[in-house]
Amino acid sequence: MDTEEFQIWSRRAADWGVAYRDTLRERPVRPSTRPGEIAARIASSAPEQAEPMETIFADFERDIVPGMTHWQHPRFFAYFPANAAPVSVVAEYLVSAMAAQCMLWQTSPAATELEIRVIDWLRQALGLPDGFSGVIQDSASSATLSAVLVMRERALDWAGNRAGLSGQPRLRIYCSDQVHTSIDRAIWVSGIGEENLVRVPTGGRWRSMQPAALEAAIEADRAAGFLPAGIIASVGGTSVGGTDDIAAVAAIAGRHDLYLHVDAAWAGSAMICPEFRHFWAGVEAADSVVFNPHKWLGAQFDCSIHFVRDPESLVRTLAIKPEYLKTHGKDGVVNFSEWTVPLGRRFRALKLWFLLRAHGLEGLRAMIRDHVRWSENLAARLAGQPGIEIVTEPMLSLFSFRHQAGDETRNDEHNLALVSAINDDGRIYLTQTRVDGRVAIRFHAGQFEATEADVDMAFDVITEIAGRMTGQGGQWN
Ligand SMILES: *Cc1c(COP(=O)(O)O)cnc(C)c1O
Repeated sequence: MDTEEFQIWSRRAADWGVAYRDTLRERPVRPSTRPGEIAARIASSAPEQAEPMETIFADFERDIVPGMTHWQHPRFFAYFPANAAPVSVVAEYLVSAMAAQCMLWQTSPAATELEIRVIDWLRQALGLPDGFSGVIQDSASSATLSAVLVMRERALDWAGNRAGLSGQPRLRIYCSDQVHTSIDRAIWVSGIGEENLVRVPTGGRWRSMQPAALEAAIEADRAAGFLPAGIIASVGGTSVGGTDDIAAVAAIAGRHDLYLHVDAAWAGSAMICPEFRHFWAGVEAADSVVFNPHKWLGAQFDCSIHFVRDPESLVRTLAIKPEYLKTHGKDGVVNFSEWTVPLGRRFRALKLWFLLRAHGLEGLRAMIRDHVRWSENLAARLAGQPGIEIVTEPMLSLFSFRHQAGDETRNDEHNLALVSAINDDGRIYLTQTRVDGRVAIRFHAGQFEATEADVDMAFDVITEIAGRMTGQGGQWN
């Protein structure tokens, strides 16, 4: 591709992106593609001869786009979102053009120094105290894995990386029954093992770990010869927003000298609004906190912030060259690859810098407040509908509901059928979960370009399809 062609196709790609975002409302959120359908359209080997860009681009539009789930669709209410503000997309074009590998300070000084700055902007924006520094990771899963590795090394007096885990006391990590599966995987990958992940029962409105049960479990484990290493607390769990009492958990972590990691992957973005910070009151005592600006703040996927109170322990766990510890940070040089499991790093700070400047914290707060208010309103409207039960009240902008099948024994089946009928309809996209063993349908508002009218349409679609399925069509109007 010569310079002229590069220019033509860069412009075509940018124009395509704008038109794509502009027409999302007209597309079904989720494609009706069947497994294998897209693969069948793609050549089974790479071409020997170069092909013209026109052909490649046409095939992209014909074969690929119809098989995409439109994550930026304003009526994507499934999972948690990955809401990419247009300005962060623009920043990613620039990052993609420079294509720098930012593993060390010297492999791109600006990337490292901007990363330090924007992490501190976010620390202040979230109301975290001075003592926290951090690093941008690809995902919350990676941040949580790093935190678990620190727990392991710290508890084993830094012997795990060197000597392995055999012959060591059995480590124990504590969490609630509401945590994300990334915690399980961190426990597997770190060699600690699922059997040593202690799930403390939850209670109360926010499904919080019961502090007394947590402390009793730690004490019983110590008495039995286990080595408690750390606690993973949840703020805004993925299923229905399960949230621990961070102050209570931190007090226990302090008493037992355990490392405390807080997973606020989704809910962390809301902490730019002071009125929501009660959900993580006490967080200043955590050792490590993860939140994903790529979920709800508008940063192009991927972008996960891992805050730590003591970067030394992270670097001591993950640095390849221990002598680096002597100088790390002190001469103004930080090599962020020493803070993460992967060596290579993308330049992820640029999109945050563009995003935070183009919208301002006030703009982003307004977005989050709208999402929370619209979700609360939708939950209240649905609660007033015959046959609809709100299963979990809104935690920020996430709630869950279920529709009565008429026959109680068929409720799970009916709600699974309902969610799939809603998704086949294409106007909105929802996902299901299980609450106390029973199927519930999740709703979450968080798209960057969602409007109140989009959330209103969710009400229409849910009530229309639920009514049709139980033969109650007329009563919804
Ligand atoms: C989404 C989510 C994760 C995993 O995030 P990744 O960045 O995809 O690894 C972890 N914890 C919670 C609470 C989440 O919502």
